[in-house]
Amino acid sequence: MGVSVAPEPGSVMEVKSCPGFEGFEKRLEVEFHPAPIFTDPEGKGLRGLARVELDSMLDAAKCTIVAYVSNEEFDSYVLSESSLLVYPLKMVLKTCGTTQILKAIPHLLEFAGALSLRLRRCKYTRGTFMFPAAQPFPHGSFHEEVGYLERYFGHLGSGGKAYVMGNMAKFPNWHIYTAADENDFMSERTYTLEMCMTKLDQVKATQFFNADGTKSGADMTEAAGINSLLPNSKICDFSFEPCGYSMNSMEGAAHSTIHVTPEDGFSFASFETMGYGSGDLDLQSLVEKVTSVFRPACFSMCLFAAGSAENGSHSSSSWERSIRPSGYVCDGTSRQELPCGSVAVFHTFKDCGYGTVAAVQPLALFQNPEHHVIISENNYVPNKSVHGKYSRQPLSTVTSSVWNVDGLLGGEMAKLFAYYDAAVIGSTSKDTDAFVRKTAADACMESAFYVMDLASVLTQWKLWVACLPRVKPFYAVKCNADGALLATLHKLGAGFDVASTAELNAVMDLGAVPDDIIFANPCKLPTHIVKAGKNGVLCTTFDSESELYKLKEYMPNAEVILRIKADDPNARCPLGSKYGAELEECEELLAVAKELALKVVGVAFHVGSGASDARAFAHGIACAKHIFELAASMGPNDMKLVDIGGGFVSSASSGVDFALAAAAINKAIDRYFPASMGVTVIAEPGRFFAEDAFTLATNVFGTRMRKKAGIKQAEYWVNDGIYGSMNCLLYDHAVLSVRALRQADAEWGEENVYPSTIFGPTCDGLDTLMRDIYLPQLQCGDWLVFPRMGAYTKSAGSTFNGFDIRDLPTLYVYSCSENDYSCFDHDFSVVEGNDSSEEYSIFSFGNISSSSSSDDEQ
Ligand SMILES: *Cc1c(COP(=O)(O)O)cnc(C)c1O
Repeated sequence: MGVSVAPEPGSVMEVKSCPGFEGFEKRLEVEFHPAPIFTDPEGKGLRGLARVELDSMLDAAKCTIVAYVSNEEFDSYVLSESSLLVYPLKMVLKTCGTTQILKAIPHLLEFAGALSLRLRRCKYTRGTFMFPAAQPFPHGSFHEEVGYLERYFGHLGSGGKAYVMGNMAKFPNWHIYTAADENDFMSERTYTLEMCMTKLDQVKATQFFNADGTKSGADMTEAAGINSLLPNSKICDFSFEPCGYSMNSMEGAAHSTIHVTPEDGFSFASFETMGYGSGDLDLQSLVEKVTSVFRPACFSMCLFAAGSAENGSHSSSSWERSIRPSGYVCDGTSRQELPCGSVAVFHTFKDCGYGTVAAVQPLALFQNPEHHVIISENNYVPNKSVHGKYSRQPLSTVTSSVWNVDGLLGGEMAKLFAYYDAAVIGSTSKDTDAFVRKTAADACMESAFYVMDLASVLTQWKLWVACLPRVKPFYAVKCNADGALLATLHKLGAGFDVASTAELNAVMDLGAVPDDIIFANPCKLPTHIVKAGKNGVLCTTFDSESELYKLKEYMPNAEVILRIKADDPNARCPLGSKYGAELEECEELLAVAKELALKVVGVAFHVGSGASDARAFAHGIACAKHIFELAASMGPNDMKLVDIGGGFVSSASSGVDFALAAAAINKAIDRYFPASMGVTVIAEPGRFFAEDAFTLATNVFGTRMRKKAGIKQAEYWVNDGIYGSMNCLLYDHAVLSVRALRQADAEWGEENVYPSTIFGPTCDGLDTLMRDIYLPQLQCGDWLVFPRMGAYTKSAGSTFNGFDIRDLPTLYVYSCSENDYSCFDHDFSVVEGNDSSEEYSIFSFGNISSSSSSDDEQ
């Protein structure tokens, strides 16, 4: 994989000042296959790395070594921020605060490669950050981290898998990313225990203050009783000034670490151990000893067991039985099977008064695996917004209960979802249907309504970041200006493409800053240009001389982007007949801009909405390169940006793999604009983020049965149509699909379906939505549900005949797969393109003539 990939989505977000120190660590464990014996006869593996190499790797992660100790099995380093453990074939790096641990990966992989070590597996874990907003790239969110990890480990046989464990309504959750060689089962069962303790007892915490610098690490180890936790281990400890403590201990091949942030308000201690088994230690007494050192008010533990033993039963091991640490109650427990026979169990505990016996028995590794389903099917939260449709509280006053989750979603995101009353539902279409049924019944709905799934936006975002890491998306607002959609994308870090003052206002109201906005309408109204200029939104596109004169007059400091024509002739909605300069016009346009002293900063194109061929993007990128060269030949210039426009389609709606298309696009970007050129690449996706997220529910309010040529046929009237949401039939060349929801029962047999026609509500024969589709016989009051109605539907409807599209309510849901409480167990892999031109046609529905890849490859 390309390792030194440049601009980082999310890095645009400024690091905010942090109210306290982030104790929750990030932990990365990477394992390798042995090097061939002749390259490494002593089997030193990673232990053969030079200190300067380790230093440069840690430098990238933003931490340094402060103490060192080793034994025959491994090397152990205490860091300014936590620990580094180097085994011959395994490296464990754990860092806290605002370190960028994942940035160590490219260095590690490079050094390991030089030692002929081949990648075997990777595991990344962390709890929920206390101060998520303070985390820099790529730690701004779990999906950002997963996207980054996928670049390096997604190609391993198992594919990357990401999980969030624990109750999403509570703090903290546990985040796991793993990738491994397929079927690489470890022969021996090994355990890793990670404990995160918060709200430490104040007296206990005082032991880790060192204001005058007189206490050594050993003093703290002794005073806190840490030396009796693992009495036979060799300890390397370190005390920080004015407070804080770290230690690594080693015992044979087993290691443990402790890190303490004692300041009140965000006090935190972590304990980790790996390599011990039940023969050496009893899990329950170990956990009790650790908690007695710190007396935290709350703690979480994740027990990770790798490798499955032959007999399949581990219940005899003390590490796989349930534990009840005295003084604590377990208030949450979940279990996750991981690839290659591994399993993780995550518990959260809270203080129940010292000395009391735990009331709830936590889940052991192998007990009640079915117990881990927390969000069950059809478990929706009653949706208030149905009743008080337009009476939301201001966002700032919302305190969230359901969405009180930090970490992956981040506190802000949680607040947002609470604000939109997002109901949690299962992830199948049946779940959506059940939600529609229940909502319609509860609220006596008569009007058509939208169900918008916020999880779909997150999924698409995650996919984008993983697949197009160099391309920052600027969402095209015209596609669907739904407030929750815009706000979610804004929180995730997207920019916006606006084409009018109203759209500009909408995104500025969200807090989008000028740098995150591009006025991507090549032909703007003068008043709109003035308005954009006044708000500092300087970046805008043009494709004609007249636009340049307008810009000169109304926004002379504009940063203009030349929109060129690069159409996919097979796109659903080609745009080239209206927009984009022909290549032969470009020289003249650049010359005029120069004459007017307008700053031309880049090139944009749009292959057409619903593009059908990734080669069109490759072709556009090649054309952009041509314009860069043209500008260079005309003297000094400011060219620094390529905007590859919109046109992207989701895999679900197109049936083609977005990752493959993205690979072809990446390949073209890297070829024509290698990262070393320092050119920024952006895109203006609309449909990609909006289409799948919206389902439209329409109510049947008229029926007619007719016999045509002896065959019984049905006709239905529904309360939204071609002048409303279904304008997409006319303007977006959409093909609708539909599901019938009868009030009485959900299923029907083949015997009673009839060819049916669906009409919209207006008195126009044109208002016909579908013909000759087979539906069960419906009655007035039944519902017809149209999935994937998010793109160019609501945004382009009218009020014709008194049916006002703006009246349609939107209800928000958050879908999670039914047997996955994590909500985020979503695997995807980044696919690298290869050199076969076949690879370019994965978007193809037909042949592309004008811009075949062989032209590009010259
Ligand atoms: C409409 C539009 C987009 C969005 O197109 P999609 O096909 O929805 O991705 C992007 N850029 C411009 C300039 C547009 O006009």
